[in-house]
Amino acid sequence: MDDSPTAKIRNRFERVVISIDEAIARRQPEVNKELGSKPVKVHLVVVTKSQPVEIVRAAIDAGATILGENYAEEAVEKIAALPDCQVEWHMIGHVQSRKAGLVAKNFSMLHSMDNIKLAGKLNRACEENDRTLAVLVEINVSGEENKFGIPAWDEDNWHYLLPIFEQFMAFPRLTLHGLMTMPPFFEDPELVRPYFQRLRRLREYLQGHFPKVDLSDLSMGTSSDYLIAVEEGATYVRVGQAILGPRPV
Ligand SMILES: *Cc1c(COP(=O)(O)O)cnc(C)c1O
Repeated sequence: MDDSPTAKIRNRFERVVISIDEAIARRQPEVNKELGSKPVKVHLVVVTKSQPVEIVRAAIDAGATILGENYAEEAVEKIAALPDCQVEWHMIGHVQSRKAGLVAKNFSMLHSMDNIKLAGKLNRACEENDRTLAVLVEINVSGEENKFGIPAWDEDNWHYLLPIFEQFMAFPRLTLHGLMTMPPFFEDPELVRPYFQRLRRLREYLQGHFPKVDLSDLSMGTSSDYLIAVEEGATYVRVGQAILGPRPV
């Protein structure tokens, strides 16, 4: 048996892809109802943060088409080292406003937009680069203080979010696609389910208020809980270690 790192990555990638399809099949009717007649597609973002270029290449060889990175500079080095790879690079980590230019130049999608100042800088950087950027708004659904994202754990106060989303939607170069969250970590992934459900409810709430904007996407779920996230309606999952193995320290 070939137990090279590349073969292991290919194996784990294929297993994750199959398990995502199985989780789609387990979705409850109310999750599918929201999706309507649209084809159900879950995009697998392979999270390559902290991984060396050889491992990133192995992920691409295994079939990865979307790579997720947390740090703009680290990603830019890898993008330069893999010039002829047909992959999309997604920024999934917190972005400081002064890194907006790097993000606007190098990424297809930002999963973690979380403030108006950053949105303004991204919009300007996109103008300078004559492009638009697909964005998801990061939401804090748990109330954990060490989490980034727009606070939204109190469902009775969601109306406070409407003017914030109106502002995000007013930037002509940013195309809002939906929401992203990083829930609390639990050993037992079942315990994360209510947070994913909350993000799904928030998506519905916002879609109801902004019917002209297509807010279809939910980016939720990592190695430990992506199957629960898919069951709860994720359209993007962000999986690193379950495919690539532990990150080097
Ligand atoms: C690191 C990271 C992931 C992936 O975590 P794994 O445990 O490697 O699957 C997903 N999303 C974000 C925002 C991350 O920072």
